[in-house]
Amino acid sequence: MENKIIKLNQNGRSRKEILAELKKFNKTDADWSQGKTFSLVYHAGEEHTDFIKEAYNIYFHHNGLNPGAFPSLQKFEAEVLSQVIDLFHGYEDTQNPAAGTMTSGGSESIMMAIKTYRDYYRTHRPEIIQPEMIVPQTIHPAFDKAAVYFNVKMLKAPVDQNFQVDIEQVKKMINKNTILLVGSAPQYPQGIMDPIQTLADLALENKISLHVDACLGGFFIPFAKLAGFEIPEFDFKIKGVTSISADLHKYGFTAKGASVILYRNKDLRRFQFFVSKDWPGGLFGSPSMTGTRPGGSIAAAWATLQAYGIEGYTQVAQEVMTTTMKLQEGIKQIGYTILGKPVIGVYAFTHQSLDVYAVADQMSLRGWYLDRQQYPAALHMMITPAHTKVADQFLKDLKESTDFVLAHPETSNQGMAAMYGMAAKAPDPSMIDMFLYQFMDERYDVKSSL
Ligand SMILES: *Cc1c(COP(=O)(O)O)cnc(C)c1O
Repeated sequence: MENKIIKLNQNGRSRKEILAELKKFNKTDADWSQGKTFSLVYHAGEEHTDFIKEAYNIYFHHNGLNPGAFPSLQKFEAEVLSQVIDLFHGYEDTQNPAAGTMTSGGSESIMMAIKTYRDYYRTHRPEIIQPEMIVPQTIHPAFDKAAVYFNVKMLKAPVDQNFQVDIEQVKKMINKNTILLVGSAPQYPQGIMDPIQTLADLALENKISLHVDACLGGFFIPFAKLAGFEIPEFDFKIKGVTSISADLHKYGFTAKGASVILYRNKDLRRFQFFVSKDWPGGLFGSPSMTGTRPGGSIAAAWATLQAYGIEGYTQVAQEVMTTTMKLQEGIKQIGYTILGKPVIGVYAFTHQSLDVYAVADQMSLRGWYLDRQQYPAALHMMITPAHTKVADQFLKDLKESTDFVLAHPETSNQGMAAMYGMAAKAPDPSMIDMFLYQFMDERYDVKSSL
């Protein structure tokens, strides 16, 4: 495709006309409002969406960079943190309770945790020149990113047949440079929870830290437990857990741009902060990576927690689990296997003898957007209340798509299925890297088609 140069208009255009154009472009995008996507959008209904938009708009121009100017934002952030610390049993040590900050999302929360541990151990274990962390193979790529950005060496421990990190392998990887273990509650690919208690024991034994990535499950597991589902502990109740990342903009159902990073105590959080006394612009202190922080996302997060409360979130968890069980049952009946034992409304399914990527292509033709996964080849789902009313239609379309692929094996060599098939068979893994870089170059170029 040819690139073209788009120049800034000489004259401004009618705002009304532009808005109409935005609405038109929007039509080409995945239809998340009808429950046809299974990641990227966490939708809890029109009424709630209108509510968070309004909350966001009231604080549209506020900047969380300097809470001195906006004490209300400081209050919202402190209250959000307090509620989450309480939810995660961070107040049980009354002398030295947990502490944290809000961030723009899971990736920022995770990056802040890695930077914090790097700097904490620089001070407390200066003999470690090249710090290392051990993560499960299924960990979110934000950790890979953080490892590169902050120069912490990352060792990936394999997972067992249940997709949980293999503890024996983790034990073997621990050495004198290890500063951190990581587990997920749950991980994204199969929705499986790592054995957090065992990892915590191991961390304590070796006098190192343990981060729990609850970006996905942090606002779901506590409420699913209240709804009666049995899910293991993952939070500060477990001695040895030293930090937790949890996204408000996933199962917290607030506007995008809101997550929390919590540490077991303030001494640890101290290493997250950045201060500068030399800037001609004044004394400068910043809690996290970003400078300007949109006030709207902080206000909307506060408003959302107020609106749901424990009871509201528990109802959502109940509804999501009910839909999840119905879908999983139906998927199994069509002949698929659910991978491992997923704990929340996030799971993956695969098929013994069928190209699941070809099935995903067929589902696309029917308007469904399913994430394709590898190791093993599987399709991914993430259930929200938006899916309750479309579960039957989904199962009907999945059955049709499956039958179609069974009758047309050539579909494996077409569409996205062909691309995934090629990647799986590439003799040289560095070719896949090259391919991905090329893909990124193209994706971020201006396309003449738009
Ligand atoms: C989404 C997610 C992240 C990253 O969060 P972003 O908000 O997308 O930056 C990290 N870990 C897990 C398990 C996630 O699901």
